Amino acid sequence: MKKIEIGHGSGGRLTRELIERLFLKYLRSEELKPLEDAAYINLRDQNIAITTDSYVVRPLFFPGGNIGKLAICGTVNDLLVSGAMPGYLAIGFILEEGFPLDSLEDILKSIKETAQYAGVSIVTGDTKVVEKYKCDGVYINTTGVGEVIKPLPVSNVSPGDAVIITGTVGDHGMAVALSRDEFDIKAAVESDCAALNELLMPIMEIDGLKWMRDPTRGGVATALADLSESTGFGIEIFEDKVPVREDVRFISDMLGYDPLYLANEGKAILIASRESADRIVAILKKHPLGHNAEVIGNISAKFRKVKLRTKIGGERLLDMLEEDMLPRIC
Ligand code: MG
Repeated sequence: MKKIEIGHGSGGRLTRELIERLFLKYLRSEELKPLEDAAYINLRDQNIAITTDSYVVRPLFFPGGNIGKLAICGTVNDLLVSGAMPGYLAIGFILEEGFPLDSLEDILKSIKETAQYAGVSIVTGDTKVVEKYKCDGVYINTTGVGEVIKPLPVSNVSPGDAVIITGTVGDHGMAVALSRDEFDIKAAVESDCAALNELLMPIMEIDGLKWMRDPTRGGVATALADLSESTGFGIEIFEDKVPVREDVRFISDMLGYDPLYLANEGKAILIASRESADRIVAILKKHPLGHNAEVIGNISAKFRKVKLRTKIGGERLLDMLEEDMLPRIC
């Protein structure tokens, strides 16, 4: 009998297969089919984006954030990268019997602060409690809706476009991994968990912006492999251009992680026309959340897949995350 494996939650290859073979088989709709971060819907001639996400991060509190902050940022960012201005959120909690109310209050404080910063109102919610040991403290689901400012379908992407990353990669994955105390490593790595409204809203006014994605589970590599698969184009990435914190790189080497596959919760990949790329990077760099922004590669019609040009002049294929070395990262 086939069963759900931990890798089905990785956001990588197995997740994709599960969605395509089972979920789409029964739930297919025009709006769902592109499998983007948010769906575009039309309500009385108003263009709306809608998205939903569940959060099961372990531990619930980690350097730079907690499950509450994450549940707001993740959903807000999914709307933003879809070219929508986040407006309203619905939130659902699954709580474990015995969970301390003080901890729940800390989570709610973060939710309030983050929602205020992101300019979203929480307008409906739900709470369920399950017996002790039947869930791990708190799980949260958030659903967000926003007004579409600039539709960014993947069909916009064309050969010659530039690939931009808004900052250092792998911070969230590394911060959560280290906070699990499975390794005896002391480092000051914090999650990059942040709502990206201030960073991305100004960019949406630029004509050359074509597509965006927040590289969460599965990291930058999986997001790009996914993009390559849906467009049929190749993507060339230059390793020496990809910003990685010194400590994240060092610990990744030690533990056998690749920062390109580690989760980010406050970064975006932008695809933009070559002509507009430098201007976009200049605007991003003005904001504290974007001061490490870089053009890291380009879209190509000459090959398929994602090719990493390594620092030593080699070439490596970047595919979707196959196994999940760090489950429950978000
Ligand atoms: Mg996303």
